[in-house]
Amino acid sequence: MIKDVNEKDFTSLGNIPFAPSYQHTLVSVNSGFRTEKPVCDRDKCNGCFLCYLYCPDGVISKDGESVNIDYDYCKGCGICQKICRKNAIHMEKER
Ligand code: SF4
Ligand code: SF4
Repeated sequence: MIKDVNEKDFTSLGNIPFAPSYQHTLVSVNSGFRTEKPVCDRDKCNGCFLCYLYCPDGVISKDGESVNIDYDYCKGCGICQKICRKNAIHMEKER
């Protein structure tokens, strides 16, 4: 399914709005149970924002030409890493 998506389709999203977590649909900080966190390499990121579209918790927002991840609410599921076709996201173990 992912291979059918043309990443150019996502370059016209403009200023992507803040994701649901910023509107307080998540009731508490949930990073406590996370064992790994996603880290974005801005040099590899092309700003396609597929990760934003697929993040189930809506914790990814646009930050210039790259993305920002709200670690307070990211649960570390790794979907953003799997969906990124530029390998711009890797998972780091929490300390
Ligand atoms: S991290 Fe990957 S999926 Fe997310 S915007 Fe950058 S290139 Fe696209
Ligand atoms: S690890 Fe999961 S919750 Fe965290 S930013 Fe990626 S997709 Fe969203």
